[in-house]
Amino acid sequence: MPNYISDFSKTHFMVSNPARVTRTGMDGKPFRCPFCPGNESDTPPEVCRVGEGEANKPGWKIRVFANLFPITEPHEVIVHSPDHEKNIEDFSIDHMSDLIKTYIARYNALKEKGKVFIFHNYGLISGASLVHPHSQITIIPQEIPTRTLPIQPVINTVEQVGEFISYCPEYSEWGFETWITIDQKSNIKDQRFDQMEEKQIQDLAKILQSTIQKLKKIHGSNPHYSKKPFGYNYYISPGEKNWYLRIIPRFMERAGFELSTGIMVNSVEASRASEELKKI
Ligand SMILES: [Zn+2]
Repeated sequence: MPNYISDFSKTHFMVSNPARVTRTGMDGKPFRCPFCPGNESDTPPEVCRVGEGEANKPGWKIRVFANLFPITEPHEVIVHSPDHEKNIEDFSIDHMSDLIKTYIARYNALKEKGKVFIFHNYGLISGASLVHPHSQITIIPQEIPTRTLPIQPVINTVEQVGEFISYCPEYSEWGFETWITIDQKSNIKDQRFDQMEEKQIQDLAKILQSTIQKLKKIHGSNPHYSKKPFGYNYYISPGEKNWYLRIIPRFMERAGFELSTGIMVNSVEASRASEELKKI
């Protein structure tokens, strides 16, 4: 079970779950991917799926189940597709839309239990312990303080798709970090994440895919970044209003300065990042 531990001042919280020490791939046993079709029995029972077939059997396009090694309770895994390697930049827009609809469905199913966070870790550099692309949904009890950034003002726009804008906020903690949100000039500016309509889901799918494709090109064209494999994290902070999707490329490491001061170092100016992303 997760154990929330606070420092003596009660301003900082951490969470511990000793069961995670022996996660799949870390226990020294021969590895078979629990997220690949045919290996459904290696995961907890399925919560829901997109696609054909019986529960806990192949035939799915997207599959959801409880995390076997949860950080929080509940904590679910959403496997993006049956393909062990293919991910967002390669999916059809329909598949991307199904993924976003799955986020919304699980958000609605779990939102009464606490604060919902939906995130995706891509690549070992991002902290992912399994390669097969997947997202996760975690629920933090309401009483545990979280330090998620509030939505940052739109500046340095990279792209607009329908009513969505991607941009590099002035306060960017990571090089080339890119946020996606609803254009505040549009008539859906106050729309909640879980109330998006079909057209908006499609537009969000397009701008998310396009942003990941751009970031992958930046990574591949920079000799320093590309010494390490491409990786990123994104998360959705759904909230009531003013939700956003924040993509954090992992082109650089955090080090002693950040760990000791809590002040992030990012030497890639947000305006320059935006210009470079716009050119792609
Ligand atoms: Zn796999």
